[in-house]
Amino acid sequence: MRTLAFGFPRLGEQRQYKRLLETFWAGHISEEDFLHGIAELKRERLQEYQGIDLIPCNELSLYDPMLDTAVMLGAIPRRFGAYTGLQTYFALARSKYALELTKWFNTNYHYLVPELEEPVFRLVQNFPLEDVRFYRQLGAETVPSIIGPYTFLRLSKRARYHNGSLASIAPLTADEFAEFGTAVIPVYAELLRSLAADGVSLALLHEPALALDVPEEHWYLARTWYAELSHQGPAIWLLCYYDSVADFQRYADLPVAGLGLDFVSNTENWRSLHSAGFPTGKTLIAGIVHGRQVWRSDLRECLRLIEALHSFSSDVVIAPSCPLFHLPITVAVENRLPPGLAERLAFARERLAELRLLKAAWEGDQGAIQQVEATSQLLRLPFGRNEQVRRRVAALTETDFQRQPPAPERYRLQALRLQLPLLPTTTIGSFPQTADIRRLRSQYRRGELSCEDYDATIRDRIRHVIAIQEELGLDVLVHGEFERSDMVEYFAEQLEGIATTEHGWILSYGSRVYRPPIIYGDVWRPHPMTVREITYAQSLTNKPVKGMLTGPVTMLVWSYWRQDIPVEELAYELALAIADEVRDLEAAGIAIIQIDEPAFREGAPLKRRDWGHYFRWATRAFRLCHAHARPETQIHTHMCYSEFNDIISFIAELDFDVLSIEGSRSKGEIVDSFAALPAGSIRVGVGVYDVHSPETPSVDDIEAILRRVLHLLPAESVWVNPDCGLKTRRWEELIPALHNMVTAAQRIRQQLIRAMGKEQDNGTP
Ligand code: GLN
Ligand code: ZN
Repeated sequence: MRTLAFGFPRLGEQRQYKRLLETFWAGHISEEDFLHGIAELKRERLQEYQGIDLIPCNELSLYDPMLDTAVMLGAIPRRFGAYTGLQTYFALARSKYALELTKWFNTNYHYLVPELEEPVFRLVQNFPLEDVRFYRQLGAETVPSIIGPYTFLRLSKRARYHNGSLASIAPLTADEFAEFGTAVIPVYAELLRSLAADGVSLALLHEPALALDVPEEHWYLARTWYAELSHQGPAIWLLCYYDSVADFQRYADLPVAGLGLDFVSNTENWRSLHSAGFPTGKTLIAGIVHGRQVWRSDLRECLRLIEALHSFSSDVVIAPSCPLFHLPITVAVENRLPPGLAERLAFARERLAELRLLKAAWEGDQGAIQQVEATSQLLRLPFGRNEQVRRRVAALTETDFQRQPPAPERYRLQALRLQLPLLPTTTIGSFPQTADIRRLRSQYRRGELSCEDYDATIRDRIRHVIAIQEELGLDVLVHGEFERSDMVEYFAEQLEGIATTEHGWILSYGSRVYRPPIIYGDVWRPHPMTVREITYAQSLTNKPVKGMLTGPVTMLVWSYWRQDIPVEELAYELALAIADEVRDLEAAGIAIIQIDEPAFREGAPLKRRDWGHYFRWATRAFRLCHAHARPETQIHTHMCYSEFNDIISFIAELDFDVLSIEGSRSKGEIVDSFAALPAGSIRVGVGVYDVHSPETPSVDDIEAILRRVLHLLPAESVWVNPDCGLKTRRWEELIPALHNMVTAAQRIRQQLIRAMGKEQDNGTP
């Protein structure tokens, strides 16, 4: 039995990857020094993988593996001109005209969406071969790791031009899918032949898109494509992860030498294997240790599974369930975890150790067998339980999920209380997180700044941001979120049952990193988390200040979470903590509370048939946060950067009072789907300002979006706001943008009021 691992984090233990990229982009290091640093990181990876039988290469992307694939295949939109290496590469990734960035499957990693123009491909840069040679110089024979043609095309978009300018970008139609496939397969074939000519005998092709809903004709295409690719030289092993394969039988029938199966995400692959068996003569690559969650594996169970798998295939290879880059590098550097937690965790390096240990134990190594037993016993002991919290969840009844009275009635009461103008203007919550704010927070963390001094500075910032919003004429204000490093981590630090790490960084996209918290036990709130800052902000103004909370689904989805209780129960625990905070904010006189759920869509399973279960608990968790709120308290939520059109009905189920949603990139198209809901049933602020663009939207741009919205929704239910929080913007950029936003809203408001006046003069109701 052999071991295989893949996707080890490229960040580096000291976040060297991030530093290299950022200093290179800033022009502080030369291209030569940059590439030198990258080569060093590649060498370190080899050390990490030591002792694993099959070591991959072509993994250290300089920005994103999908981008690498697009560049490799020559799928470079015409606006970038001829490919000139790194310059074009980073222009594709991060220039003003960069490719669209979107979420990778149901993870919080973001990839660049290849934009396909014509069905013409060409092997522009042979990254896999370059890397095979790089590692060979170091004496290592590696297996090239490549995104497969199905996943590449499935995640790409087709760009259409009209009279030379970009007219639309949309997923490939069924015909285009076949056509582009026919064009790209010869290039994949050429790539494989070039590898074979260099002595490569095996290639890993990643096809996670086969875990999505795969239409019948796609299986036919995949079969044809792989029939072609499988006789170019190297044996092909497919890897499919993040969920079970869409159709086990069709997957098993693909004409390749090895098939990867994720046995961790759920039990479906295992059940299918049992009923359908495994094709003879193929290698079974078994994903048996978790690539996305941080819990140590129950190795005794893994050994049992390995044993069972051997009755299906004589060639079993054990591997992580998915690429390891969803995990931080190592637990060993964490010194401030709650007692007892570290020995229950495995990050990427520890996962590799598990694979080595499993192999040794399987081969009869006594020391390894003892270690397997010891961890299994440790993991069986209960950890992080709080009976009171468990009882609170168990005692929930339907009334805890159903706010009264119904939304339209509540909204009327809220209008009386708030006295807002038509088309109220507001922002999403955060204001610029400038370098000095970040410095201040880290000084405070390190104990270099007293609590009093820290608080005083935060108050200063709040005062400043309230004054600015009043001056701009915004109607509903925010406190700016200066005390928060991150919308999930901030709450995680204050809740019991959740740990935060010191060094557990993972890549979100490009060089951007974050530290997912670890939900290890029952979650509860020992003290109020936001009341101090919000009430201080409210004390400075007569306008309403929104209380800002992160919702339970986002808290969960952007963290690692325990697997020993059903996920919905954990979501309800989080929701109860938020509900406690809602109650305290209300008691402190706060009239509007926003519960952000930007990850609401991302948490959805890959296959639609599994959506029912997810959306049921996700919507119930959200409703639990506000079911006992007073009718006159206005509950807002916010969502962004996801495909919302197909989940609008689930969004409406959340039963909030007002939704702010991103929509400026689609110029308000999202309202089309809102318009399909029962009339007047939703009050919504469609983002009118793309906060990720450094450009200032003009008053006319914003008016145009608003008019579109008003065409479809009644004016009484329309709010005006940017797409998302403003924390990544600079003050100089956002002041004029917000000014234009307020001006546009005021202009339309005046017109609406005049029009209403006229209607009254004419005697029309
Ligand atoms: N309230 C948060 C902010 O403004 C929301 C962030 C988000 O949607 N990701 O920063
Ligand atoms: Zn947002």
